[in-house]
Amino acid sequence: MTARILNGNQIRDQIYSELQQQIEELRGMGARPGLATVLVGDNPASKIYVSSKIAACEQLGLQSWRFTPPDTVTTRELLALIDDLNVRDDVDGILVQLPLPPQVDTKKVLEAVDPAKDVDGFHPSSLGRLVSGRPGLVACTPAGVMEILRRSGTALEGANAAVLGRSDIVGKPMALLLMHANATVTICHSKTRDLPEVVRRSDIVIAAMGRAAMVLPDWIKPGATVIDVGTNKVTDPAQAERWFANFPSRLESFRAKGSTLVGDVHPDAASVAGAITPVPGGVGPLTIAMLMSNTVKAARLRRDVQPATVEKA
Ligand code: NDP
Repeated sequence: MTARILNGNQIRDQIYSELQQQIEELRGMGARPGLATVLVGDNPASKIYVSSKIAACEQLGLQSWRFTPPDTVTTRELLALIDDLNVRDDVDGILVQLPLPPQVDTKKVLEAVDPAKDVDGFHPSSLGRLVSGRPGLVACTPAGVMEILRRSGTALEGANAAVLGRSDIVGKPMALLLMHANATVTICHSKTRDLPEVVRRSDIVIAAMGRAAMVLPDWIKPGATVIDVGTNKVTDPAQAERWFANFPSRLESFRAKGSTLVGDVHPDAASVAGAITPVPGGVGPLTIAMLMSNTVKAARLRRDVQPATVEKA
């Protein structure tokens, strides 16, 4: 069997075209949704992430602002910036790119964001709404995984789902979303006994551990839907040769560039799963799409506008 590949780029494009309609509706009312990003210091990965988020805003015609305090910034200075953004009427979403430098109290900064503008879904109030199943802004990566599952027609009700990883930003909200969709969810972490056994009885597997190619093909229940959130950089040629032995084009690109990305799931799992997300090009594009979606949603909710188009969240 060869798994159906769940293409995140295609799903992102569908979501963008639906968002365009909502953005048009808002523009018709004189409103142009806007996202403010806060990027502290010179972390190269963070710079790339923020640039892609701003590029997505530009693609969709959203306003965006980039605030770039130096990495010597204090908690108090960041709180003052967040306060300014909270009261600005043109700012619908506030995104504080993590990680923040060690002298900054990250929790305090995230908690200072107005929950109505919490487009990352990291505020305790957003998490509380998610726990109690009330509508709100949901963390982007797990929300994106739900879009992949729903739009690919994966049956969730009554399905056994394993979530590998219990972080606040991926694993925990993921498990809650699946539970609200009536899946029977097992949350796994580094102390879980016999992880392969849990995965083997799961119809849906969400891997979000940050452990390269750890989930092996013989852990996967034949026909299961496998969503690979992990993004791990591979630079060791021996590892690349081992993991991509059956994927000559990936090996070729590794040899040309000296690095590639691998998920938490071994690439050969595609020969057992019924459907699987690739890495890259699976969950990644949805994370930014859901940030855009949350920004538009925040703009609507702040103006009390119901979408004429169908609400998917
Ligand atoms: P964290 O490091 O915060 O959490 C990792 C989780 O995995 C923890 O709960 C940890 O358990 C668990 N874990 C680690 N090792 C094992 C193991 N051997 N067996 C079982 N569980 C294990 O990571 P994040 O949640 O932030 O991210 C997870 C992955 O997803 C990363 O690769 C990250 O790059 C990727 N990611 C991708 C995104 C995208 O857009 N594609 C967005 C966000 C993340 P414990 O709690 O016991 O320590």
